[in-house]
Amino acid sequence: MESTVWLASRSLPRPGVGCCNLLSRVRRSGGRLKPCGNGRKVVVCVSGTEGKTKVVIVGGGVGGLAVGGRLAKEGYDVHILEKNSHVGGRLQSLEVEAAVGVGGKSDDPGGQECFRFDTGPSLLLLPQKYRDAFTAMGEDMDDYVTLKKVEPAAYRVFFGEDEGVQSLDLLYDVQKMCLQLEQVEEGAGGAFLRFLANAKEALDKGTASFIERDFKSFWDYADVPRLLPLLKHLSPIELLGQHHSTMRNYFKNPKLQAMFTFQDLYVGLTPYNAPGVFSLLAATELTDGVWYPVGGFAKVRDGLAQAAQKVGATITTKATVKRIDHANGQVQGVTLEDGTFMRANIVVANADLPYVYNSLLGSKVKTQASKLLSSKYSASVIAFQWALSSRLERLSHHNVFLSNCYEESWHRATDASTILERPNFYVHAPSRTDSTVCPLGTDAITVLLPVAHLGEGFSIGSASDDKQIVEAARERVISSLVRSGIGDISSMILSEVVYSPPTWQDSYNLQYGAAFGLAHNLLQLAYFRPDVAEPSIKGLYFAGASTRPGNGVPLVLMGAKVTTNRILEENYPFLSGN
Ligand SMILES: Cc1cc2nc3c(=O)[nH]c(=O)nc-3n(C[C@H](O)[C@H](O)[C@H](O)COP(=O)(O)OP(=O)(O)OC[C@H]3O[C@@H](n4cnc5c(N)ncnc54)[C@H](O)[C@@H]3O)c2cc1C
Repeated sequence: MESTVWLASRSLPRPGVGCCNLLSRVRRSGGRLKPCGNGRKVVVCVSGTEGKTKVVIVGGGVGGLAVGGRLAKEGYDVHILEKNSHVGGRLQSLEVEAAVGVGGKSDDPGGQECFRFDTGPSLLLLPQKYRDAFTAMGEDMDDYVTLKKVEPAAYRVFFGEDEGVQSLDLLYDVQKMCLQLEQVEEGAGGAFLRFLANAKEALDKGTASFIERDFKSFWDYADVPRLLPLLKHLSPIELLGQHHSTMRNYFKNPKLQAMFTFQDLYVGLTPYNAPGVFSLLAATELTDGVWYPVGGFAKVRDGLAQAAQKVGATITTKATVKRIDHANGQVQGVTLEDGTFMRANIVVANADLPYVYNSLLGSKVKTQASKLLSSKYSASVIAFQWALSSRLERLSHHNVFLSNCYEESWHRATDASTILERPNFYVHAPSRTDSTVCPLGTDAITVLLPVAHLGEGFSIGSASDDKQIVEAARERVISSLVRSGIGDISSMILSEVVYSPPTWQDSYNLQYGAAFGLAHNLLQLAYFRPDVAEPSIKGLYFAGASTRPGNGVPLVLMGAKVTTNRILEENYPFLSGN
């Protein structure tokens, strides 16, 4: 049975309070709420388990698991549907068997050994946000995941130059960091301290004012008293000016300018189109630290899934949603690819938002759908997971290789001919922190090389196009590693797994195979990023990297809280006496 109740919006619970207060009020009134003329519509369903409101979540990525767990804890009947055989979405670990042989020689076959790779996230930033996600489900993250700080540096940055400084470490130790920078440029130590203080301010104030906040109207966003604390410390030019230009106020040396701006890649931008506020990325790496989940990111995935199930959410894998059903401005449920219809009062779409609008919602939202198609997207990436017969001693846990043509290197390659001789790429070598990654004396590295996404001309006219660009990428990475003094790995590769833009699109339904979803340029940030609900379809909500606040696991986890609170404000988990 399903019933519709109207009530005045002022009696809705405050975000974060949950529904307990409201429910006790409802119970006191005998479980009945009277229709109220100017009120807001609240749908109450008693068709789910034990009369609970039924929620279907499309996608078991981080966003789906986190919202699912939070809502189940609040008393909703939650069903998470995931198309793949594993939940976790982009957050995955992959185990590969390879023959290492005696003495680590691939041509001397020995037993098969296991090598582990994190195919998605590898940097665990803002660990408190992970803890909060478990706490919200009544669980302690330490019971599921052991975090280890990546020491002594967040990153090692290699510069693709033949002369001068070859590499620098992003050290947590401020004194050592200043000494290191002073050797590159006189006065850079002091400049670094100023940079760090300002970036930390942007991080602390920006998180509260922009990232964790639910913007229900433009006025929430343009709320001057809320912005004042941020503006008091930082000028609008520092916050909104071109990131690379703002960095010139601190450092003259292009290597140092690059060292504190390459992080813009994570948010789908470049130092030449990102606003200066994204210095907060380097700030969190250097102050909160970079962490690693021992046993790989799969531990985070499994922990979130187990915690959500413990509070009552059900998870079904290999369940592809074909359509989100809605009629008369109200969500009805979902239809699976096998034709099964699942009725629900609330649907939370965790799959990539542009894909949801364009493939699951039908023609009613076609204006929003086509607007999303022409929005700005992050890069895609070609990823190599290589099991190596020897350990690469010069590598740190996280390594960034920057091009000698820094500005040019941000143009996204579309085919083999447009990959630079010395491209920017990232190398993850987690065995420095976690000895369970690969056998002693060997290495397991993941390389991420940014390229164009499928909507901006990445060449897949034929399978051979894809093959050519992958071959060019492999060749450029290997020769860059040689030039940087890491060693020639071509004879060390025991096994290789490759992901290219079509892999990201096909595996997770990411629009255009853009690995990090919608970009975070100023017109796609905060209030201007797609909202966590679709106003024309009641009961339809969103969670994940392409909605607010944005990409990256901590942001998706913060967004899960925003989505949950919005649902709590607008819907009851159940209604006794109905
Ligand atoms: C290569 C790479 C490196 C990254 N590195 C980092 C990092 O170091 N640190 C960090 O914090 N973040 C990193 N990220 C970003 C991070 O992975 C994402 O922000 C986050 O995992 C996104 O989670 P999500 O829940 O929004 O979406 P997704 O992970 O995309 O989950 C959505 C889920 O929906 C499922 N789905 C899609 N369509 C359907 C359908 N029709 N029916 C049912 N299910 C469906 C998908 O299979 C998927 O499981 C990285 C991402 C990539 C790709």
